[in-house]
Amino acid sequence: MPLDRAKMLSQYRITAPEKFRLKDMSPGDTYDLPHTKDDAKDELEDVVKSIAKYQEMLYAQDQWSLLVIFQAMDAAGKDSVLDKVMSGINPQGCQVHSFKAPTSTELDHDWLWRTTVALPERGRIGVFNRSYYEEVLVVRVHPEILGKQRVPKKLVGKDIWQERFDDIRAFEKHMSRNGTKILKFFLNVSKEEQKKRFLDRIDQPDKNWKFNVGDLAERMLWEKYMDAYEDMIRNTTTEHAPWYVVPADKKWFTRLVVAHAIDDALSGLGLAYPKVEAASIEEMKKAREVLANEK
Ligand code: ATP
Ligand code: MG
Repeated sequence: MPLDRAKMLSQYRITAPEKFRLKDMSPGDTYDLPHTKDDAKDELEDVVKSIAKYQEMLYAQDQWSLLVIFQAMDAAGKDSVLDKVMSGINPQGCQVHSFKAPTSTELDHDWLWRTTVALPERGRIGVFNRSYYEEVLVVRVHPEILGKQRVPKKLVGKDIWQERFDDIRAFEKHMSRNGTKILKFFLNVSKEEQKKRFLDRIDQPDKNWKFNVGDLAERMLWEKYMDAYEDMIRNTTTEHAPWYVVPADKKWFTRLVVAHAIDDALSGLGLAYPKVEAASIEEMKKAREVLANEK
């Protein structure tokens, strides 16, 4: 039976925030798909081709843009999803931006400042590898980071996270009202699978470069991160900028869900190649004649 894509995606798109519990989402889930590794690869290839086709129309039409946000714990597979899902897309139409700890210049501004300049232009797909959501994740889990932001003390109260959620919702609404379609993916890896992947990174010399000792310290704060993620998703999943909580213990499945969600969003934009005006068609006909008669 062919895959009912809308049904599958609805399983991972968070639409009832008040009922959302991260614990209800299984990181090892594969929607019971009967896929072998090869099936998954073939299907991914087809979906990526379709994304590439839409991306060309997005670029030609030059009106909409797509912002794809990835958030996850370390080793959840952000890089590999990016690699496999975005690989078929014309690099000119896709901009990837990785958000690290803010620089001193960035800290001289409000926390959304660095985001604005990194947003995709019309006609482009912008990918955020981490994002402004770190402001309610790592900054929440490590209050000392908040201290370094030099926000006037009297503006930092107990409602700070709710205020940041308000600001994010307003920002995303503004973006969507201006033609940016926003998709947000939380790659939901289990603590056990992260351990396996960290051990691989330590044990396999060609993966050593991926291991960062600091990642272990964040792992120790797993529960705090999960609470922060849950609260973040509850407060910022909206119709125009939904969160997808994507099972991330099986990489083939993560890639498939992300690719389908992107393809589905693009297909819903009603993209079309721009129509050439009658006058231009006349000019093209003349150009054709000149070319055909060239000696
Ligand atoms: P990988 O480890 O796979 O290369 P990564 O996204 O983990 O990718 P790193 O350079 O390891 O990249 O980490 C970036 C770090 O920057 C993360 O620990 C993240 O929490 C931190 N960071 C991102 N945005 C902010 C922010 N606004 N404030 C503080 N820290 C941030
Ligand atoms: Mg890292």
